[in-house]
Amino acid sequence: MGREYDLELVNVSKSYGDTVAVKGLNHKFHAGSYVCFLGPSGCGKSTTLRMIAGHEDVTSGSIVLDGFDVSDLPPAKRGTAMMFQSYALFPHLSVRDNVAFSLRMKGVDQTTRHKAAGEMLELVDMSQYADRLPAQLSGGQQQRVALARALVTKPKVLLLDEPLSALDPFLRIRMRAELKKLQRELGITFIHVTHGQDEALALADEIVLMNNAVIEQSGSARDVFNAPRTEFVARFMGGHNVITLDSGKFALRADEVGVGPSGMPATVTGVEYQGAHVALNATTQSGEDVLALLPEAAFFADPKNPGDAIALTWNEGRLHRLQA
Ligand code: ADP
Repeated sequence: MGREYDLELVNVSKSYGDTVAVKGLNHKFHAGSYVCFLGPSGCGKSTTLRMIAGHEDVTSGSIVLDGFDVSDLPPAKRGTAMMFQSYALFPHLSVRDNVAFSLRMKGVDQTTRHKAAGEMLELVDMSQYADRLPAQLSGGQQQRVALARALVTKPKVLLLDEPLSALDPFLRIRMRAELKKLQRELGITFIHVTHGQDEALALADEIVLMNNAVIEQSGSARDVFNAPRTEFVARFMGGHNVITLDSGKFALRADEVGVGPSGMPATVTGVEYQGAHVALNATTQSGEDVLALLPEAAFFADPKNPGDAIALTWNEGRLHRLQA
């Protein structure tokens, strides 16, 4: 039987001179899960990933993989593999030799490593391009090769640093579905760094949301979205209003706000047609901005315009109290 958790961070910190990049992280990762490290630029996501990979030393704390402290091991000995943002393929090597490269470094003979590379190329559906050079491939194809190259070492944990950021929006959505499918098929843990909440919501079994060098909240995508712990989480995940009632702050999903005959008085400040929804912005009498995402048909049954006085309604039960 496999372990419930494969990777564990124990009080992991990283400083660069006076800059604390990562502060005392403690976290256990479920074996075989798709994890997204999410957070604004500079919050410590990449540093954490690089420490797990062994491309960066920890300043203090331990990285534990399958019960062993791997903090002092070089990257190739950890059981992790990393796929970089730039793919970093060798331009002068064929696709096959790029994928087989780490095996060549380990002294694996050519027949064995070409067989292994062939299997990985099949896995990412790139067999027919084995003899090409990276420059003869599209961005999406180069990314598949980079994936095959990382997976050829049979890692227990695959680390992906902003793997989709170099792709155009259409390809990004297609490739993220492929990443998820691949992770399911392989059954290993993927840890994927992103600053995009949509990407994390679409992919993650678990979201680890970082802010200012610490984990602000972690949990399933639905839990983090529906039950943000703090104002930061509610605002970062998007789709929520943060409103003040009885001197306490609450999160309220924008799609839970309606316009009714009675409710909180407000003035419409903007109306934006979004297809399935209409985004209506309004300002309350206390000066708070509230976004209501109204179903298209409901909005057009009684359309509003900027300047109109309206009443905002919601179900009290949908208010989610935030920690101060
Ligand atoms: P993220 O991936 O969330 O954007 P990083 O982990 O790259 O954040 O960076 C976290 C913090 O550490 C930032 O303040 C960044 O400037 C700093 N940092 C990262 N790498 C280095 C480095 N090699 N030297 C000095 N400071 C660094």
